[in-house]
Amino acid sequence: MEQNISNLQHTILEQYRDVFKGIDDISLYNTNKVISAFRKHRISDYHFNSTSGYGYDDIGRDKLDELYAEIFNCEAALVRMHFVSGTHALASVLLGILRPGDELVAATGAPYDTMQTVIGHTQPSPGSLKEWGVSYKEVPLTKEGDPDIDAIQKAITSKSKVALIQRSRGYSLRPALSLEQIQSICEAIKAVNKDCACFVDNCYGEFVEKHEPVEFGADIMAGSLIKNLGGGLAPAGGYIAGKRELVELVSYRLTAPGLGAHVGATLGDQRLLYQGLFLAPHVVGQAVKAAIYEAGIFAAMGYKTFPMPNEKRHDIIQAVEFGCPKKMVAFCQAIQKNSPINAHVAPEAGDIPGYEDKVVMAAGTFVQGASIELSADGPIRPPYAVYIQGALTFEHAIIAINSAVESIQKV
Ligand SMILES: *Cc1c(COP(=O)(O)O)cnc(C)c1O
Repeated sequence: MEQNISNLQHTILEQYRDVFKGIDDISLYNTNKVISAFRKHRISDYHFNSTSGYGYDDIGRDKLDELYAEIFNCEAALVRMHFVSGTHALASVLLGILRPGDELVAATGAPYDTMQTVIGHTQPSPGSLKEWGVSYKEVPLTKEGDPDIDAIQKAITSKSKVALIQRSRGYSLRPALSLEQIQSICEAIKAVNKDCACFVDNCYGEFVEKHEPVEFGADIMAGSLIKNLGGGLAPAGGYIAGKRELVELVSYRLTAPGLGAHVGATLGDQRLLYQGLFLAPHVVGQAVKAAIYEAGIFAAMGYKTFPMPNEKRHDIIQAVEFGCPKKMVAFCQAIQKNSPINAHVAPEAGDIPGYEDKVVMAAGTFVQGASIELSADGPIRPPYAVYIQGALTFEHAIIAINSAVESIQKV
């Protein structure tokens, strides 16, 4: 149905006023946590200095690790631009903890695409866990998309060394996990094998709620700094956080056995990681508000949205089912056209290595591929769903989405 966009904007902002307010409360809570940690750890401008060479005694680097551990209320953290991406941080956890003969159990269905290459059980992949002699089991989610606690308990054995739990929906229409669900999974696993490490892929989930998985039973978690925790400022990097003994094992994988977290010159601008962390609770709030706005508008227009506008959020991703390839492309083109960077290019559906179907994506971002910035993409296949994530400012999202609504109405 044809809708006047400024009326629609007004309606959605009014209709979900309380939902938006709830997001502001979470941002306020998390900002307070961050500021308190900065104060307690006496962060000063000399922590922004960078080192060269081996990077011994880099206090800015070590302090940032302490700051993350403080904010997440856990024993230790490793925050590094040396992690090239979220996948690298996640893979370092798996390769750092698992040994030949051990078993990895994916407790929440098929993991994120790039993790499948790390695991190596769907197709041959050099350097994968499979090549290292790590066996693998996957426990599907229930039909409703919930964790299947009974099946998880049946899958865990004495050989199970790590259980992988993915918080975000990633690129699927399953719901993201709540902290309570993560807690039940961890408790169920520990009841069968208390030595199995519960590892949460925390990508897209950080600061969406008042707490993090390591406060709800997870032993270790990891994610990307060009998503939530970089606050839009981090130019690259990843983090891991959790139990000291596990973080230490991972540090030997990131650098070398014996070196661990004690080396690694920071080279670039550490200030951006500190300042990005300071901004992150607010920026994540902006991204979540953008997601609610997208859900509100498209639900009002009769499209299926995941999650629905007033559903509780556990990640920053919004999926919208357009049911038509032309609308998907028109949507992504409008997002690109309203981006600060490369607004003049029009994305088309194209082939991407590793994907079976053509993919269309809009990403007019300052930091290449940063999905805390407003971006959208999806594979050209039924149900023709687009995944939208990020927005450094809610205002930007409103402008871009309104323009996309107008484009779609013309298809
Ligand atoms: C983004 C993401 C990753 C890692 O992706 P990178 O692009 O390597 O940072 C892993 N898991 C989930 C759920 C993600 O959203």
